[in-house]
Amino acid sequence: MHERGQMSMGAMGTTAIFGSYVLSRHDGEQTVLRDRWVLLEGRRIAAITASRPQADQVFDRPGRFVLPGLMNLHNHCFSEAVARSHTEDGNGRKNNPSIVYTVLLPLTRRGIEILSPAERLDVARLGILQLLRGGATTVMEPFRNGIPEMFQAAEEMGLRFYGAPYLFSTADAQAGADGVVRYAGDDGQADLAIWDGLYARWHGQAEGRISVTMSPHATDTCGPDLLRACAERARALGVPITTHLAQDADEVATIGARYNGRTPAEYLDWLGMLGPDLLGAHAIASSDDDLRLMAARGATVLNCPRVFARTGVAAAFGRFASHGVRTAIGTDGYNMDLLGEMNAASMISKIAAGRADIATAPDLIDAVTATPAAVLQRPDLGVIAAGATADLTVVDLTRPLLQPLSDPRRGLIALANAADIDLVIVDGRVLVAGGHYTGGDEAALVAAGAAAIEKIWALPEAVAAFQG
Ligand SMILES: [Zn+2]
Repeated sequence: MHERGQMSMGAMGTTAIFGSYVLSRHDGEQTVLRDRWVLLEGRRIAAITASRPQADQVFDRPGRFVLPGLMNLHNHCFSEAVARSHTEDGNGRKNNPSIVYTVLLPLTRRGIEILSPAERLDVARLGILQLLRGGATTVMEPFRNGIPEMFQAAEEMGLRFYGAPYLFSTADAQAGADGVVRYAGDDGQADLAIWDGLYARWHGQAEGRISVTMSPHATDTCGPDLLRACAERARALGVPITTHLAQDADEVATIGARYNGRTPAEYLDWLGMLGPDLLGAHAIASSDDDLRLMAARGATVLNCPRVFARTGVAAAFGRFASHGVRTAIGTDGYNMDLLGEMNAASMISKIAAGRADIATAPDLIDAVTATPAAVLQRPDLGVIAAGATADLTVVDLTRPLLQPLSDPRRGLIALANAADIDLVIVDGRVLVAGGHYTGGDEAALVAAGAAAIEKIWALPEAVAAFQG
């Protein structure tokens, strides 16, 4: 039965978890072991055994699927919290099909100004609670550099966190009533200085669980000088670079008009940014040639299908993967249920391709385990093996909606969601047990975070943006 020790979240003892199914690899191929114990010692996986090991705390229940800690490499705790439940069904879009310039950028900018540091921390904590409850152990989170509280919340709640404070050449891009996006200001140098300060303060903190990632916002909000400076700084420090590219046709037109007909991918390549260390979010308005270019350079696409499905656009995982582009899946902050996002990736890919044998369960599991670990050059993550870091996500496959079950990987993608998450373990610490956050009062975290976001919703410009 379920035996929990009296260990606190931060304790460093031994933990044994029984898996009816344990995701493993054999000769590089993903495989599933039956009826194994995974033994954690401190921050490492010590062994995978057939017999029950001795341990300080033991999780012994049938029907658990033990997976490497799931990695969600594109999320926004703050901006999508502002948008959610306001912008579905075509709401809040005016003449612009994208909400990036009507809602996300302007309202997060104002929201950061009106919230106190304590309220911003409440929003950050709510977001990280959602990420953990959604099954993620590692998250890459781009956010406005006026929310350093994101790092604070990640540190105190135990998440493995690649924080990516934005840099902008123009931080005040907004869509007017005519739908045309206007860009103002020159913030590049100031943002580089802020980024440097956050790197000095946070990189390597929390026993290495906190990292700082280079994060120029997007191709249309960052000019060549800033992007070159970002690439140079990131490569000198050995940190990955993440950005948004080809989010919609308007951005493609803007980049083409500015830079001699180049596409967003060609623009990044021209500046020397397209490489194995570049993680590009969305890329949905990319041509086939763009995808071939990204594949040739070893760049990664961060695929977040649900935010686009919301607008009637298919952001098909299978399209990127079938062009040979390394493709990881993230939640973009909309619905932080990573299992649900994988289900959406499966369904949307199959509809877009008109075939069932694309975006298979093993492909999608790799997209949140082995692939992101390789992208981040973290061979200790994304795998269950002796010596690997003790990050695990455990799913309860005994729930009514998951039974009967023949193939656990297909069941995971086709049937499971965040409600089926049993354990989330980071660095050997049990952050979610029995589906609930172990580090604090969930209801209080939810109420505080929601109250802060509701202050932004009450702004006159928010009320106006969400009309029609
Ligand atoms: Zn994004």
